[in-house]
Amino acid sequence: MNVLKRYLVDFSSLFFPRLCSSCRTDLTPQEHFLCISCLYNLPVTDFHLHEGNTIEKIFWGRVKVKAASAFLFFRQKGKVQHMMHQLKYHGNAELGVFLGKLYGQSLVSQEAYKNADLLIPVPLHPQKHKKRGYNQSEKIAEGLSSVLNIPVNNTILKRIKQIGSQVGKSRIDRVESLKECFLADCPEGKTDKVILIDDTITTGSTLEACVLALNNIGIENICILSLAYAE
Ligand SMILES: [Zn+2]
Repeated sequence: MNVLKRYLVDFSSLFFPRLCSSCRTDLTPQEHFLCISCLYNLPVTDFHLHEGNTIEKIFWGRVKVKAASAFLFFRQKGKVQHMMHQLKYHGNAELGVFLGKLYGQSLVSQEAYKNADLLIPVPLHPQKHKKRGYNQSEKIAEGLSSVLNIPVNNTILKRIKQIGSQVGKSRIDRVESLKECFLADCPEGKTDKVILIDDTITTGSTLEACVLALNNIGIENICILSLAYAE
């Protein structure tokens, strides 16, 4: 490596240290985003292999969802939490693309997630989007898109309102307030089958509100994929 190149690499590592996004150890030049150990020990749910899985059950009796799944188990102070923080609060947008690709590889043979017309990331409010510089769910969708060959659409579903913390509210109250936050509009014409993409699923209220917004414009065939599931 010539001196200039080495200087540039060292210089960029000041700003972008090559650390594992999960355990924070130094990465080898062959490793990207995650070290080999973290990559092979990701706490995958394998929910996509099971009909009637935990994520699908979240929506039972609430909204109609064809299939739903989440890639990783999220635990407080766990490695997935660290990854999600990197993705959402530390500007590591490309980690979302990387994890989306990984997830896509395990979904590629799944009938439920093939042949969808669009991947629709859960939108951020424009102000929040501007502040963060990107929408983490859109980054995950980009990764999924490159493996599943389904285009990402970030115009049909919009977040028109930001609301405060919903902690402590009942599920019905949460959904009622969230329903006013999302608006769907499909000027391009007919869309049959979509997959909603989120970063973390907990109570499912946000996704429920998104499904209702899509139902309002006649989109009924909806699947859900989330990167993490916080029990
Ligand atoms: Zn690691």
